[in-house]
Order: sequence, then structure tokens, then C-alpha cells
Amino acid sequence: MSNAATKSPVRRLATWATQDVDFQRAGRSVLRSTAEAWLRDRLIWRLPANVRGVALTFDDGPDPDHTPQILDVLAFYEVRATFFVVGEQARKQPDLLRRIAQDGHTLGNHTDTHVRCPALFPERFRHEIRAGDATIEMICPGAPRSPFRPPYGELAVRQLWELLRAHRRVVLWSRDSRDYRCAPPSEIAHLGLTLRPRDILLMHDRFPSTVEALPRLLDRLRGRGIPAVSLADVFAPAARKPAAPERMFRKVMTNGVPRRRTPG
Ligand SMILES: [Zn+2]
Repeated sequence: MSNAATKSPVRRLATWATQDVDFQRAGRSVLRSTAEAWLRDRLIWRLPANVRGVALTFDDGPDPDHTPQILDVLAFYEVRATFFVVGEQARKQPDLLRRIAQDGHTLGNHTDTHVRCPALFPERFRHEIRAGDATIEMICPGAPRSPFRPPYGELAVRQLWELLRAHRRVVLWSRDSRDYRCAPPSEIAHLGLTLRPRDILLMHDRFPSTVEALPRLLDRLRGRGIPAVSLADVFAPAARKPAAPERMFRKVMTNGVPRRRTPG
């Protein structure tokens, strides 16, 4: 259990994505590490190389108790962040969703019901994404297309295909606050001393410890001269077109190791 928790989210996702693959020539570990290398280039788990800042991300809201407090802190520090919201939560808290957008933060889709994606039938998976998008669009019309973060960082390979083929940004993280594992505020605030430029930090706007830690975390970042940015600050609205993900993936999955492109 602790092993899975300490794995990088990209490695975890690679594990999920390859677990139901019928592999012939490659051993599972080769397949997994190949998939991991491939995914590292296509999933967003760090900010682009030219960015000096870090991205704070808050999942699972909007939460009537904690999201307003987090928004107050962010406004006080004049910092923008990213909120991966759950559709059904947003429909219960439309004013909060509007406030997140009006305060200049990025809205992300975190499915409609916070479901574990890999086990879903294709139609249900598509519904989760569409309903999450439609909720954001209904409450905040004209909001830019949201990046997507799967609950628990888990997706099946066919779901990844679909998202990448639709040029959807799939966002994981490089640092985990472990607030959902009851990390004390002091430990969360300490991240302000250890985050590095380009890090994407996973947090949740539904825990008191996260709210309590946030001012100290931001003080420390500010003391180190590291700005906090939202994902929309650093990624252009139009997603870059990935190179034929389906074909690439199929090659990885059937041969284990993709053909290496020779430089030049
Ligand atoms: Zn979540």
C-alpha cells in the first residue's frame, strides 16, 4: 500500500494502463516501463521547462466549508491556482464555481461523480467526462476547455487513447501533499521549502489541515521567490496535437518496445 502511494503518479498510471494488456514478447515490467516513458512525454505532471513557478492544484471541490477559505487565502496572497472540480459537487455549489472562475483560477474536470475510471464501461466513462464539462460550461459559460485529472490518477489504456486522441490535457502531479492521508498542517506547509520550480502539487479543498497550512506554504514560497501559477497561466488554451497516440500506443502494447527514432 505504501509502495503504491510513493510511486510516481505517471508510474502508477502506466501500471493501470497496462494491467489488462495481453502482452506477448515483452515482460510486464518492460512493458510497464516503456508505457511509463511514453506517458511521461504526453501526460502533464510538471510545468513546461521555461516556467519558474509551481502550480498548486486543489481536487474534489467545490466544498462549501473549505473552498471559500482557500479562495480567501489565495486572494490575500494574490496567487492563482487550479481547481479540479467534481461535476455533482459543482452543481450543488454553482456560486462557488463562479467565484473560482471569477478569481482567475483555472477550472479542471475531475469527472462528474469522482468515480474510479479504469473499471467503467466506455459509455459511462464518456458520460463522466461530458457531464463534468457540461456542468462547468453551464455554470461558467465560455470558460476555456478544462484540463482533466482522473480521480486517484487512474485510467485504463483505452481511456487514455480517447483523451489523447481528443487532444485533452491529462494532468497528474509531481508532488503529493498527502492531505487526504491526514498529513498535519506543518508537514503540508513544509512543502513551501521543498517544492521546486515546475512542480505540480496535489492538494484537496476539502480538508481543514490544507486550509490551515496554505498561508505558511505560500509565505515560504514567496520567501524563496517562487511564484505560484495556474495551469491556464502556463499552457496555451489550444492543446498541441499529439502524434497519432493510438498508433504509437498499439505499437508499444504489441511489441513491448517502440522502434527508436534515429536522431537527424
Ligand atoms: Zn479526487
